[in-house]
Amino acid sequence: EHDIHIIGGGLAGSEAAWQLANAGWRVKLSEMRGGGDGTPAHQTDSLAELVCSNSFRSDDAQRNAVGLLHAEMRALGSIIMAQADAHQVPAGSALAVDRDEFAASVTRALAAHPNISIVRERVDTLPTDGPAIIATGPLTAPILADSIAGATGADALAFFDAIAPIVHAESIDMSIAWKQSRWDKAGPGGDGKDYINCPLDKDQYLAFHAAMMAGEKASFREWENVPYFDGCMPIEVMAERGLDTPRFGPMKGVGLDDPRTGRWPYACVQLRQDNASGTLWNMVGFQTKLKHAEQVRIFRTIPGLEHAEFARLGGLHRNTFIRSPDLLDRTLRLKSRPNLRFAGQITGCEGYVESSAIGLLAGRFAAAELAGQTLAPPPVETAFGALLAHITGDADAATYQPMNVNFGLFPPIAYEGKKIKKPDRKLLYTARARDAFARWAPDLEVTAAAAE
Ligand code: FAD
Repeated sequence: EHDIHIIGGGLAGSEAAWQLANAGWRVKLSEMRGGGDGTPAHQTDSLAELVCSNSFRSDDAQRNAVGLLHAEMRALGSIIMAQADAHQVPAGSALAVDRDEFAASVTRALAAHPNISIVRERVDTLPTDGPAIIATGPLTAPILADSIAGATGADALAFFDAIAPIVHAESIDMSIAWKQSRWDKAGPGGDGKDYINCPLDKDQYLAFHAAMMAGEKASFREWENVPYFDGCMPIEVMAERGLDTPRFGPMKGVGLDDPRTGRWPYACVQLRQDNASGTLWNMVGFQTKLKHAEQVRIFRTIPGLEHAEFARLGGLHRNTFIRSPDLLDRTLRLKSRPNLRFAGQITGCEGYVESSAIGLLAGRFAAAELAGQTLAPPPVETAFGALLAHITGDADAATYQPMNVNFGLFPPIAYEGKKIKKPDRKLLYTARARDAFARWAPDLEVTAAAAE
């Protein structure tokens, strides 16, 4: 007998189970690994396995948004943070862990909890018979993904995230390319010259279109015919839709005055600054599954990028996530079936820490609901709140893409016209977050996630 069913014993599911169990609720935690199934990335049967890096990123709660999230999670008795702290390895200001000991200790803690029963089984359909949390992650098993698509609508479930190539600024030929925002529009702090533009005339565009059509793509046979969110459609898929589709999409020339001709180009590739120092620029809208060598060959036919050096080439990653801003309410419930909550990377957050944090919140919301109470969502000034607000409503649903926690998700701080240097600004954000957290958290019961 259980009070709530959690599907997926990864980072989010483990954290949600811990929070619920400590609140006194009996949890059934279904994890398919160890029951004859696996994912393309996991290598063990441990709960909370880290599939790639062993880092939880910056632990600086004063100047870093993910470090702040660490602190907020610790304050709410996170099992993931407690075991990460207990199994830390040296990594400067980052929190990195011994991955095997970390996952083993989370697994042991959950297995030993009297309120948690771990069942090694694959779940193929969304539960209908009681409250559940779906925390099956970026590599959700396909049959369950079908069931989720049935509940959300197929076009609200994505199976990929797509990344665009990033170019080293110094390798762009600025005698051909120029800096200008479309229509000279200046964003906050901008001067109307935010983008680097690479113009194509008609012949160049037609040749480029043909090259994209003919270019060799990485094969993704098992995932063919799955929907892309419009905001992350690969550029060559756009090219396949029509000769002019890219030219009326990311390759539009309107509002851009080529200084060499004084006119708008027939088509244009825009690059957007990718890092604060301006050394890296990403090709806007150029997410692609062209093979790496093909990307280099074809993108170097773009005027201005003949000698481009790529810091990162484009790619497509398997990442199952739902269009949360449309689908979930502020406490992570599926609006159309409120007995189901989603947690972890499947909600469209990105990263170990973020996935765990959303698992923690899902567990807390569910525990309150089981007790006949409602837990107010964390204030948007906190790291928890900023991330949750992004997922559950603030982000643009049409272009929803996986997101790490960052200060850009927090409400901007009013400067009263004063210029504040960047590091100081971060201190203001985190100080405000601590105040807001302190106002929200006192009512919350915290059970220490004692490390072994
Ligand atoms: P997971 O930790 O994947 O947990 C989901 C669990 O659900 C899994 O244990 C899975 O076996 C189980 N499951 C799936 N379907 C079913 C089913 N039908 N029935 C029962 N169980 C099921 N983030 C970082 O911060 N750093 C990185 O370096 C990093 N590298 C990544 C590399 C890859 C290849 C991928 C795919 C993602 C990476 N991420 C990384 C992103 C993300 O943070 C991790 O995937 C993280 O584990 C997500 O946590 P989660 O709990 O949402 O999902």
